[in-house]
Amino acid sequence: MVGGAVREIAGPGVTPVKFNREALAVLVLAAVLVVVLGLWALEHAADRDMATAGPGVTGAQTTIHWKLVTTWPKNLPGLGHTPEVFAELVREMSNGRLDVRVYGAGEIVPAFEVFDAVSSGVSEMGHGASYYWKGKIPASVFFTAVPFGMTGQEMNGWLHYGGGMALWEEAYAPAGIVPLAGGSSGVQMAGWFNREINSVGDLKGLRMRIPGLAGEVFSAAGGEAVRIPGGEVYTALQTGVIDAVEWVGPYNDLALGLHEIAEYYYYPGWHEPGSMLEFTVNAEALASLPEDLQAIVRGAARAANQDMLDEFTARNNRALREMIEVHDVKLRRLPDDVLAALYRGSEAAMARLVAEDPLAAKVHASFSQFMENVRAYHEISEQAYINARRDVMGELIREE
Ligand code: CA
Repeated sequence: MVGGAVREIAGPGVTPVKFNREALAVLVLAAVLVVVLGLWALEHAADRDMATAGPGVTGAQTTIHWKLVTTWPKNLPGLGHTPEVFAELVREMSNGRLDVRVYGAGEIVPAFEVFDAVSSGVSEMGHGASYYWKGKIPASVFFTAVPFGMTGQEMNGWLHYGGGMALWEEAYAPAGIVPLAGGSSGVQMAGWFNREINSVGDLKGLRMRIPGLAGEVFSAAGGEAVRIPGGEVYTALQTGVIDAVEWVGPYNDLALGLHEIAEYYYYPGWHEPGSMLEFTVNAEALASLPEDLQAIVRGAARAANQDMLDEFTARNNRALREMIEVHDVKLRRLPDDVLAALYRGSEAAMARLVAEDPLAAKVHASFSQFMENVRAYHEISEQAYINARRDVMGELIREE
């Protein structure tokens, strides 16, 4: 027996067993060694699994980190929710192998630099709206919305089954960007005004935040179109930099607080009847992923795309009721003659766009042919049903 420190470990009915410190130290060391060896073996087994998962994944690189920059304020409900849905889906579907971190406008790049950031590889992905890039790519307006164009459901049909996606890919290929449909807002609202619009003359001199081809139409009708990102529209309207604003619809406009600074809320959204948002992916970054992760990026985007329309469908009506009943917003329909004048202006703006840009002409041909076909069927399906339902069940919302 060595040394004086001897412990007795005994329990009821157990014969006392004696240990000394040296024996305990040897036992602890042996246990630590077993644990360390076990962990080492587990980690290397995981590496072997990753190495067989596909090219581009080697050794201890178990997680690929991507950035996704957006044109929206961080955590904006609706439009800003969709990239978060996408990132979470990718994380779950890839079991954490692809980690996409979402950044709001201004965190890495300002809203209107998202396209360039993805093109140059500053960020692997972006989320925004293609018509923001009209100055670079005139044909891009068709992939978000054109005035008196297609609804969200129709846009999804054209893009995924009518040749639209191939044209969108062609438009973005020179920038090294792969586009993916990034959610539809459904039919938007015509916007917020601080005076009533009773005739086309009432648009004269109005400075309005209204992007895309509709902005040209608005300017041709006597107003002045301004391009401002979502995070700045509240302040711009509040301080009088602009007189009117269109943003999205009740759910998103309530989140931005637009009902606090404008009195009249006009419908219908002639200018954005089914706005499609976009995911943009740096083409090289996408190609460098293992094939299964590329499929996950595409699959998660397709799911997030549908999720946005579902969310707006569920939440717009509740938000509109809150605006009217709690915040005393005055709901107004644009008069028929104003809509007719805006339609004539839209036709003129479209004719100019098509004459000036060959790719816009090509996309327009596909877009307008698809719309004519789908419109013919929707007149006797969606539209006929919704009209019939209103006739038998009555209207739910009336202007004051
Ligand atoms: Ca809008």
